[in-house]
Amino acid sequence: MSSLLVDNIGELVTNVPAAGGDGPLGLRRGVALLVEAGRVVWIGPARYAPAADRRIDAEGGAVLPGFVDSHAHLVFAGDRAAEFAARMAGEPYTGGGIRTTVGATRAASDDDLRDTVHRLRDEAMRQGTTTMEIKSGYGLTVVDEARSLRIAAEVTAETTFLGAHVVPAEYAGRPDDYVGLVCGPMLTAAAPYARWVDVFCERGAFDADHARAILTVGQSAGLGLRLHANQLGPGPGVRLGVELGAASVDHCTHLSDADVNALADSATADGSTAGDGSTSGDRQAGTVATLLPGAEFSTRSPYPDARRLLDAGVTVALATDCNPGSSYTSSMPFCVALAVREMRMTPAEAVWAATAGGARALRRTDVGVLRPGVRADLMILDAPSHLHLAYRPGVPLVRQVLHNGVPQCRL
Ligand SMILES: [Zn+2]
Repeated sequence: MSSLLVDNIGELVTNVPAAGGDGPLGLRRGVALLVEAGRVVWIGPARYAPAADRRIDAEGGAVLPGFVDSHAHLVFAGDRAAEFAARMAGEPYTGGGIRTTVGATRAASDDDLRDTVHRLRDEAMRQGTTTMEIKSGYGLTVVDEARSLRIAAEVTAETTFLGAHVVPAEYAGRPDDYVGLVCGPMLTAAAPYARWVDVFCERGAFDADHARAILTVGQSAGLGLRLHANQLGPGPGVRLGVELGAASVDHCTHLSDADVNALADSATADGSTAGDGSTSGDRQAGTVATLLPGAEFSTRSPYPDARRLLDAGVTVALATDCNPGSSYTSSMPFCVALAVREMRMTPAEAVWAATAGGARALRRTDVGVLRPGVRADLMILDAPSHLHLAYRPGVPLVRQVLHNGVPQCRL
């Protein structure tokens, strides 16, 4: 069996504080890491490193778990650069442009959609992302939602059925009829390719009754629950997600004290009723608040207050929301930098949220951390410390990425 040793590591971020690490990131120095068969099999003092078939010299760079981007919309066609330019010239974001992308996506071939998914997945990988959730939601017909998920499933296990993204034009004024389609034939066609179900619960999209109906029937079909909630204004989404045991509520820009308290209470609640759809052994209690600062950046909107959530004890994740309308970035380092600069997170909190936090939001224990037994998903930085991800924004610091133990970048 071929083995690979990563050594000369400047700083190892493990996210495993109990393993003798320092702080929530479980920082370790003077260690090396051994990979076999796609798994981390050993971490220990470099001077005791076992012999290995191959070696990667980290050249004193920091090594971190690969980013876990738990919220992305990659299955689409076309772009909306002109809409972005109009917004920057003063027009407000309403979410209405989603229908533009729906039209382009329906008209696209499978290969066109596949090319976009692969291109963006590769772009994210070069920036350190080794786990990526991908949603449907630009097809909005039975056939187009199923094919979106089928294509997404070619590159990730974390696929999410988002038939309830917006009510498509042909159902204008008949949202109940569209929700019936989503809960019936569309879910049936989508479920074989999906791990999760999601709803855009927002004024102008789907209200709490619709969201509850869709999530409940999705859960019955074996899917875990996630929710777009409280992005554009206050609303019932966050508390609905917590009530139903969603793994994550995403955006969380406009929160009441009751919303924050519900999230905090979920973090300490018994996970036995969690609607995660996961197999035994990777259950984790609580609903994560996933913050998507790329969306606020790209819509010039107020950022969510991560400090308020963290101080209340809420588990926070960071993700890109990569989509052609409101956040066309695949860059987790960019999101880390925004979170530190604009959302009052410390660099350590932001790095944790972008790795271990994302894993919690997907109820995964085999990614987002580095310890023996987990998937060998990691990045090597051209910098001695994780601090540089926020300290040097916009700089391509990720030098190498291992995914399932396989180096992705040419050195
Ligand atoms: Zn989204």
